[in-house]
Amino acid sequence: MPHLRNILEDLELPIDGNGDLSVISPIDGSTIAKVFQTPLNDISQIAERSQAAFLKWRNIPAPRRGELVRLWGEELRACKEQIGALISFEVGKILQEGLGEVQEAIDICDLCVGQSRQLFGKTITSERPEHRMMEQWHPLGPVAIITAFNFPCAVFAWNAANALICGDPIILKPSEKSPLSGIATLNALLRAIDKFGDEAPDDLAQVIIGGTTHSKSLVSNPHMALVSATGSTDMGRSVALSVAQRFGRRILELGGNNAMIVTAHANLDLAVRAIVFGAVGTCGQRCTSLRRIFVHSSLSKELLNRIEQAYASLKIGNPLNEDTLVGPLIDKAAFEKFQSTLNRVKSEGGEVRSGGERVLQDVYSEAYYVTPALVKMPTQTAIMREETFAPILYIVDYDDFDNAIHLHNDVPQGLSSCIISDNMQEVEYFLSANGSDCGIANVNMGPSGAEIGGAFGGEKETGGDRETGSDAWRNYMRRTTNAINYSHDMPLAQGISFGQD
Ligand code: NAD
Repeated sequence: MPHLRNILEDLELPIDGNGDLSVISPIDGSTIAKVFQTPLNDISQIAERSQAAFLKWRNIPAPRRGELVRLWGEELRACKEQIGALISFEVGKILQEGLGEVQEAIDICDLCVGQSRQLFGKTITSERPEHRMMEQWHPLGPVAIITAFNFPCAVFAWNAANALICGDPIILKPSEKSPLSGIATLNALLRAIDKFGDEAPDDLAQVIIGGTTHSKSLVSNPHMALVSATGSTDMGRSVALSVAQRFGRRILELGGNNAMIVTAHANLDLAVRAIVFGAVGTCGQRCTSLRRIFVHSSLSKELLNRIEQAYASLKIGNPLNEDTLVGPLIDKAAFEKFQSTLNRVKSEGGEVRSGGERVLQDVYSEAYYVTPALVKMPTQTAIMREETFAPILYIVDYDDFDNAIHLHNDVPQGLSSCIISDNMQEVEYFLSANGSDCGIANVNMGPSGAEIGGAFGGEKETGGDRETGSDAWRNYMRRTTNAINYSHDMPLAQGISFGQD
């Protein structure tokens, strides 16, 4: 089993320390470090320094900027084991998921190295003779990256790798609940910057440690050309208003309420495997966690029985143990929300079929381990329309496929979704304009575990933006449209004649 002290030493992070922000491990509730919060008064200077770095970094050719990201990927490879284990200590993910998160950061570096040679615009035919039009994509400016507690490494890397190749300096504001994993990921970048040499300006990558007040100050700073914020819908609403007020740009990756439709033509073996990982992975604390199932009534009983059986064999406990599949909730507040939601479930006619209990409190009195809850609901009630960031899986029967699609979409969030079916018409309908209204729609798999190549993000209250994948790099750049006249005349567009003909 990994040792925290060795990991912190290897990663050159504060051991114990005497800072004013306690980092608590959800594994046992112990304080694993005390880090210093950034003085609030420093934030405007940090932003100014980032702006100064931008004026230099934007002139470095994009493929050279890609070289820095390549070096970052190498640094992350070298400390993958340590950061992966640190994520387990800080967030409570099982070790495999912690390592998987660092791998995602490495993968985005690889993607962005290639992308740095492909920051292309269009050439467009002109309506005027001997004219040409084109689009260019230029660096945008400093990017503030605000991350949620549950993906402290990968989400930072998604944003930073894209921003850096696009010519933008970055400022990370990690979650106050998991700052160490973010700092360790940033330290790997700082080592890469050292190796990269003098072409990298000072303050290309900075960090601000603190909570909401720090975050709000950064968000409202006019030097932040782009604010990319990942977290709850409440946070996103506040960020959106603040950034809009100063006509800044934002990327919001907010809460999900992800569902699966298991049709009458489903392969239940596939369904059960996808459901268990989707609903209990990271103890239900993924933005893409599976929260709702709509199952055809002909398969409902069998599916419920099989999920119950699978849930009964889940090993819950210390996420650093090799055989553990479900670690703890992040903190007491998360546990209380889990409990209050289950109480509301009963008042809305639901039946908790299994789970929903706190366990292991005799071993870990200050930590919050729970048995994932499986809840049978008569229909989709109000509680199901909210995201509870804990392992609660609602199951509702349906008879009419159109109604299943309606219920699926009838929530405020729109992140990820999936269908389990071997029927082509059902699958294609689910993927069509009349089907799932989410940013991600999967077939014969669960809603979580996205690949970095595809655009990641969701619609409606999930924010409507994309942080990474596909053409999301454009969000980190500004577009300019250029019209070029290579004739000796001055024809005007729309055939306008302006007195000189
Ligand atoms: P949170 O909203 O409490 O905090 C997220 C970050 O925002 C933290 O860094 C916090 O300091 C900052 N913050 C909080 N309030 C703010 C405000 N008013 N202004 C500016 N910054 C503010 O979220 P959390 O509990 O850390 O994470 C869980 C949530 O994040 C869930 O809703 C989950 O679905 C969502 N999430 C979404 C994605 C995605 O890609 N869509 C990924 C991970 C997590």
